[in-house]
Amino acid sequence: MYKPAIPNELLDFADTIKTFVKKECEPIDDLIEEQGKIPEDMVQKIREFGLFGMTIPEQYGGLGIGAMGYCLVAKALSWGHGAFRSLIAVNNGIGSQALLVAGNEEQKKKYLPDIAGGKKITSFCLTEPGAGSDAAAMATTAVKDGKYWVINGLKHFITNAPIADIYTVLALTDKEKRAKGGITAFIVEKGTPGLKIGQLHNHMGSKAAIQSEVIFDNCRIPEENVIGKVGEGFRIAMKTLDIGRLTLAASCIGYAEKLLKMGSDYAKTRVQFEKPIAKFQAIQWMLADCATEIYAANSMLTDACLRYDGGERSPALASMTKLYASEMACRVADRVLQIHGGMGYMVETKVERYYRDLRLYRIVEGTSEIQRLVISRSVLKDEIEF
Ligand SMILES: Cc1cc2nc3c(=O)[nH]c(=O)nc-3n(C[C@H](O)[C@H](O)[C@H](O)COP(=O)(O)OP(=O)(O)OC[C@H]3O[C@@H](n4cnc5c(N)ncnc54)[C@H](O)[C@@H]3O)c2cc1C
Repeated sequence: MYKPAIPNELLDFADTIKTFVKKECEPIDDLIEEQGKIPEDMVQKIREFGLFGMTIPEQYGGLGIGAMGYCLVAKALSWGHGAFRSLIAVNNGIGSQALLVAGNEEQKKKYLPDIAGGKKITSFCLTEPGAGSDAAAMATTAVKDGKYWVINGLKHFITNAPIADIYTVLALTDKEKRAKGGITAFIVEKGTPGLKIGQLHNHMGSKAAIQSEVIFDNCRIPEENVIGKVGEGFRIAMKTLDIGRLTLAASCIGYAEKLLKMGSDYAKTRVQFEKPIAKFQAIQWMLADCATEIYAANSMLTDACLRYDGGERSPALASMTKLYASEMACRVADRVLQIHGGMGYMVETKVERYYRDLRLYRIVEGTSEIQRLVISRSVLKDEIEF
């Protein structure tokens, strides 16, 4: 099949993952949902494919397949349980990107190979109870004490926190400057005295993903654990989000494709008024709208990824793609649920699970409203090149 400008080796790799998902992941979908986690032998297979380190360059043990390669794999994985995405997303995204963007050579060599190999799990601690969309309003502080920094504060909704080995932590080092030079990024390792796990929240979907509070209680970390320069943390944090937003969009597209297939299969077999409901124009139009929007999102994603891998760093493109794909996927889930009628509301068809799981994507790594804020800033500065 013709795919514009996407390197063949990436398409081949994505095909290998698609086959793996179909043969090995889809059959254990219910088991994962029941147990709330992926069986260890499957985690090992994911490690062997190198999927924990797709965005990490080969010199640090990763696959280095860029945003396009990662997004093709993320789409393929979305045909399996959502837990697969959760498993690899943080190591490939917010958990490793600060090190990649601003870490020194020593830090990269020390941490990245284990992150890429899935031997160490990462988490990214930005959000706080009082600082969500307005991340710069954070209250967590880091104060210099000789050759150490002492961190105090509370982060919440932190994905992977209870199982993480390496935490990227954003803390205030200058209360006056805040986003403009007053926030610093740190690496905190598991087991550091003063690092504690707080409350775990139950959530409506993505049950196999785990997140919790992280408490820093006089947590002392050596000065060599600063990522980049003191005061650069906010800029680093914002830079780490671009690739995460593209891959969130890719997952949404993968889920939407799977939902469309479920909707179309059901419409062909469900008979009412003596004919398959696929014969009714109302149903056909819902399927057509889903397909059209998936195509639009996919085209945006391909363009944004190819530009990203080509060196163009545009937060607006990443935000537009994430905004459109996440809202699109929720519309697709809603229509496909409607096509299933009452069965769509029942747990066994799994449509309701996608409906719940997908709702997260309009919130996480920046809500839809915040994506619009990022996009409109670029519009007003005449920065967007279509
Ligand atoms: C399951 C899950 C996992 C997460 N994982 C992580 C993680 O690993 N690390 C991490 O740091 N964070 C994580 N988060 C946090 C996530 O990024 C935040 O929830 C998100 O950024 C929104 O912040 P908030 O929840 O505080 O909402 P709020 O900021 O309180 O927003 C509430 C509402 O107000 C709107 N709003 C806020 N400001 C504006 C504005 N200026 N203009 C218009 N509307 C506005 C929002 O769009 C939203 O609708 C996770 C969240 C969830 C739910």
